[in-house]
Amino acid sequence: MNGMPRRIDPSTDRATAALILGCSPSQVGYCSRCQGLTVRYGSHAQVICPACRAAEQDPGTPPPGR
Ligand SMILES: [Zn+2]
Repeated sequence: MNGMPRRIDPSTDRATAALILGCSPSQVGYCSRCQGLTVRYGSHAQVICPACRAAEQDPGTPPPGR
């Protein structure tokens, strides 16, 4: 556990990505920034994946507790 969301590679199986993201496979889609997998559809859809959003909020700062 390091608190930083990890990018999910687009080659990752959709069902596996859904498990990581905590959504259903039909809600999985590509991040518009890094093309990694994220929740693109459904009630908590996000255009930008958690890894990109974390990087945006914390620019140039090393992850804490390394
Ligand atoms: Zn991304």
